[in-house]
Amino acid sequence: MMKCPKCKGRMHAETYYNFVRSYDAWKCTSCGEVIDQTILVNRERTHRDV
Ligand SMILES: [Zn+2]
Repeated sequence: MMKCPKCKGRMHAETYYNFVRSYDAWKCTSCGEVIDQTILVNRERTHRDV
């Protein structure tokens, strides 16, 4: 189970669509925070750079 980094609430998987493809993301049921794979990768890169 995924936990929200902001409020530690429960997150559920949702499929989003943009113009070229669909992708799975996590959405917090409490605060509405959305995390997708791209964001996670970017955050990791940021951490490594620092
Ligand atoms: Zn949340």
